[in-house]
Amino acid sequence: MSEEVKTTEKISCLIIGSGPAGYTAAIYAARANLKPVLYSGLQPGGQLTITTDVENYPGYPDGIMGPQMMKDFEAQARRMGADLRWGTVSKVDLNSRPFKAEIDEETWVEADSIIIATGASAKWLGLPSEERLNGYGVSACAVCDGFFFKDKEVAIVGAGDTACEEALYLAKLCSKVHMLIRRDAMRASKIMQDRVLATENIEVYWNTETDEILGDKHVSAIRVFNNKTQEKHDIPVSAFFVAIGHQPNSDLFKGMIDMDESGYIQTVPGTSKTNIEGVFACGDVQDKIYRQAVSAAGSGCMAALDAERYLSVLEHSAKSKNKESVA
Ligand code: NDP
Repeated sequence: MSEEVKTTEKISCLIIGSGPAGYTAAIYAARANLKPVLYSGLQPGGQLTITTDVENYPGYPDGIMGPQMMKDFEAQARRMGADLRWGTVSKVDLNSRPFKAEIDEETWVEADSIIIATGASAKWLGLPSEERLNGYGVSACAVCDGFFFKDKEVAIVGAGDTACEEALYLAKLCSKVHMLIRRDAMRASKIMQDRVLATENIEVYWNTETDEILGDKHVSAIRVFNNKTQEKHDIPVSAFFVAIGHQPNSDLFKGMIDMDESGYIQTVPGTSKTNIEGVFACGDVQDKIYRQAVSAAGSGCMAALDAERYLSVLEHSAKSKNKESVA
């Protein structure tokens, strides 16, 4: 790092990300008096801010809307004294001690420990027409954009729990939902599959892939093909929703931290420890299996406890060194 870099402040615990993992880490770290500073990132509240009903988070017997749940997490972290800030960590230096993090390409903080809770983002098919019409009928968030297509026909691609959840959401708003599934089976849990298949205005297309999204300025139809017969046909729709999974938001740490081949940060099993002492990871950025709000929150708790233990050892050894140098 060059010498002209200005470090604006020194903190003990930096939390990057504001989903269930980040906020839970903030709650625990604040209660342990680590005075955590959390930067919310580009999507404050994370993926739950683009979902609807959450029915499986314990403590909400009647369910809760995702955005409201994240407001509750945030309020709780704030009440515990966590310093919650708007802003994105744009660069990190994990070789130096303390660690350094650049905020919004402007200022720097020095941190004795870092908790990475940057989550994951939606994947896209990668078609040129998908990119061209993104925001003009192409969307990766049915909850955000479904309303614009009230009483219209729409399509959705994907066969996991997210796709089923979004197809069901769209079916309540739209006249018809065309659901494209590339295999002859869905990946989603049985209960979600059953709900989709029992919904009259959802038509499921098996072994079907998207060839192109059609439309000049706005989506007007999709061209699909059956990957068994190679037959193509067009389906007139006003919107195309992509729900094919997520990728971890770990680019910031590439080459610095051990990751698997998909970019998920690797942690020591049963802990939140990364291969760098003092750097911890929690939530979807390190979890490609469970990816639930409740498991993310649980791992945020683990990260704060691991950071607290690390910082107390650090403090203890600094005190011992001071004593030795005085003697
Ligand atoms: P998943 O990875 O589970 O599913 C992705 C789906 O997209 C798969 O069906 C996959 O097909 C399909 N897909 C991937 N790439 C393409 C492509 N290029 N073209 C067409 N289809 C494609 O992701 P989800 O986001 O659905 O779920 C992630 C995790 O979150 C899961 O563990 C899920 O259970 C969980 N979840 C739980 C919820 C809940 O409990 N309420 C709600 C939402 C998610 P294929 O099967 O052929 O690979």
